[in-house]
Amino acid sequence: MKNPMDRQLEKRLSERAVAIGREGEVAAFRELLDLLGSSSANARRLAASALGKLAWMGVEQSRAVAALAPMARHDPHPQTRQYVIKALKAYGMAAAGCLHDLRDMAQNPSEKDYIQRDAASAVKFIEEAIKIAASQAESYCQRCSARVSVDEYARSNQAFQRVFCDRCFDEVFLERRNFEMQVEINKTIEARDGTVVQSEGERRIAEWLSAKGMAYRYDAKFRLIAEFQIRPDFYLPELDVYIEYWGMDTPQYKMSMYKKQMLYQQEGKRLISVYPKDLPALDGLLRSKLNLFGFLPQR
Ligand SMILES: [Zn+2]
Repeated sequence: MKNPMDRQLEKRLSERAVAIGREGEVAAFRELLDLLGSSSANARRLAASALGKLAWMGVEQSRAVAALAPMARHDPHPQTRQYVIKALKAYGMAAAGCLHDLRDMAQNPSEKDYIQRDAASAVKFIEEAIKIAASQAESYCQRCSARVSVDEYARSNQAFQRVFCDRCFDEVFLERRNFEMQVEINKTIEARDGTVVQSEGERRIAEWLSAKGMAYRYDAKFRLIAEFQIRPDFYLPELDVYIEYWGMDTPQYKMSMYKKQMLYQQEGKRLISVYPKDLPALDGLLRSKLNLFGFLPQR
């Protein structure tokens, strides 16, 4: 990849691989297999990553594993090998034939640390999938209590770290995607500093923070606990403080609110909760809570 033309092509291929994985574009499965043969290491790496994401979406698992397995051993680019190994892990039982190689990589001291680590993690996951199949351990959907098959178990466990039957899996998957889209659609209110927020309450908070000259991130994707991805409304990097505006009152919303508040607490994060009833006295509330965290507003 020496001249700018090549770099542009590389960029295009890489972006394409990422998009396929992100959109779960199963129809592009063969395109990904082709991308694995690209001369760009970055495109190969991202194609492998995307293949891992499609693992539980009904693609031909044996074909994917057959394409990935030799790359795990021989790709000249170690980071590409790392992503290939992660992708093989996602194929669980279907990658059982790679266990021998993966064990070697996990134990080989001449391998890079991250390759050893991810190979060991893949071995563990694949062995677990095999064990479940062998023992025919009975697993039940956490949502509808139906008995789940080994495939269903592997699929939902890999994607959500939860056990769902296929039907519930699809519903949860859609709910998540719809939620993400809804958040973007709901951002219609512009605060004075130009941040586009979802509600009047959020606007008030955003404007209070910017009036005080406080740096904040709005709706940043954050990972609080390994399995739970949390999107805080506001994060104040200078104080390491989170502010959530709990603006709704439906039972479903409250359930997720309690769960989120519990996670913050478990992780020892500093959270300021703001409710609609607080808005008339917002200045006093934020001032006193932030005082507790060592912030003394000048204005
Ligand atoms: Zn179910």
